[in-house]
Amino acid sequence: MNYSNPFMSLNIPKIIIFTGAGISAESGLSTFRGQDGIWTQFDVNKVCNFSYFYSRRKDEHTRKEIFSFYQLMLEHVQKAQPNKAHQLCTDIQKKFGKDRVHIFTTNIDDLHDKAGAENVTQVHGSITQMTCLACKHIWSVSSFDHSEKCPHCSSSVTKPNVVFFGENAPEYEKLLSITHHKRVHPNDILIVIGSSLQVVGTDFLFRFDRYHGQRDINIILNKDPTPFDHMFSHAIIGNATEKYQDVLDIVLKKFS
Ligand code: NAD
Ligand code: ZN
Repeated sequence: MNYSNPFMSLNIPKIIIFTGAGISAESGLSTFRGQDGIWTQFDVNKVCNFSYFYSRRKDEHTRKEIFSFYQLMLEHVQKAQPNKAHQLCTDIQKKFGKDRVHIFTTNIDDLHDKAGAENVTQVHGSITQMTCLACKHIWSVSSFDHSEKCPHCSSSVTKPNVVFFGENAPEYEKLLSITHHKRVHPNDILIVIGSSLQVVGTDFLFRFDRYHGQRDINIILNKDPTPFDHMFSHAIIGNATEKYQDVLDIVLKKFS
């Protein structure tokens, strides 16, 4: 039988969904720039700072201080439930297929997973994991212990698998690779929800600029305007759990 998968046609676009802290705000996880909740209780220049951590990586007092911040954040994440905007991302992925819909997030929470999404790339790491700086092994945890050693190489230089300020973010490579100019088609769609795009390298964004090629759809949804809104065909301002419907309507209209 001579059968070729109709969905593999080049005319069917890729959809890149890129989410940030704002998508989880209405699930009870405060954004960093919102400057409320957990972020005001700790000195972020210490607990999120890689050079501070690394220079004191064997100091028990420092490790306890840093791990207590991530333990508190983990407890918030464990209680949080995904909202309608996370569900929308999953629904788009289910409709168009996980090979075609790539979800990238700067979030360290697991709310895309809890909403049933697959192949989610967490470019700033995951709060439900630890990593070893000696051998790069990553493992899941349900609570943080500042003295936990690497189960693979026994090194004591372990940390939450969350990218600190000033630390390398290896998953950016994947984002740049999937959005490489040779791989981006004019009909590919970018959907940004709850990210000011200020903490990520925006190289990938220029390949989705609405003025680039004959791009017809790219969408950004945030509570506040961002400096990049003019690059999008649809810049939606509002809460993710209310305005997700507008995103859905635009995508459905495109494929109806
Ligand atoms: P950011 O600036 O990318 O996100 C904030 C954006 O979300 C803003 O544009 C804001 O307008 C928007 N926003 C806020 N509430 C919203 C809502 N209800 N609906 C729609 N949009 C909303 O990110 P940040 O807050 O500066 O965080 C920086 C980094 O810290 C993140 O990239 C992440 O690595 C980490 N962080 C993670 C989480 C998490 O995992 N849930 C939470 C806070 C911070
Ligand atoms: Zn190790």
